[in-house]
Amino acid sequence: MPRYTTCQICGRAIRTVKADCAQTGKVERIIIDHPYVDPRTGVQEEERCLGSGWRPLEVASDALERYVAKLEEAAMELRREFTAMHDRPPEEFTFRAQWPLRGEIAVARPKRFDPKRKPDGVLKPNTYAHQFWDEDRRYRFGLARADADLAVLNKRLADRRAPA
Ligand SMILES: [Zn+2]
Repeated sequence: MPRYTTCQICGRAIRTVKADCAQTGKVERIIIDHPYVDPRTGVQEEERCLGSGWRPLEVASDALERYVAKLEEAAMELRREFTAMHDRPPEEFTFRAQWPLRGEIAVARPKRFDPKRKPDGVLKPNTYAHQFWDEDRRYRFGLARADADLAVLNKRLADRRAPA
């Protein structure tokens, strides 16, 4: 086996060493500790990639399958929260106020608040609507990111399973 092989999680070529493999309990070539670099942005996001210490993708897909399952669960939870916020907008939001206010503030839901209708233009800070649509944007961003990550990871799994 070559000394550089593919990490199951980040998909990069990473050096391997012979060591005790926690998954098989045998001495095998496993991926050395390395940081996680986002393949889309090239930005280092974690000190230690979750593929560290696992067997390379050429040998196993156990870390990848576990990671995909966790990510799918997290995405489902995010989607559930997002849907719940739209179905039943919270009675109030508590958040760190923006200038010119300071500290934590709580804003109650206005009587005529409509979660189906995002107002045009810039929303006034420190209001319920501002906070609601800010949360909405955060959820959409998180969901889009989870979907993009899952697409890459599921393709990696599918490619590995495909007959050569
Ligand atoms: Zn990695």
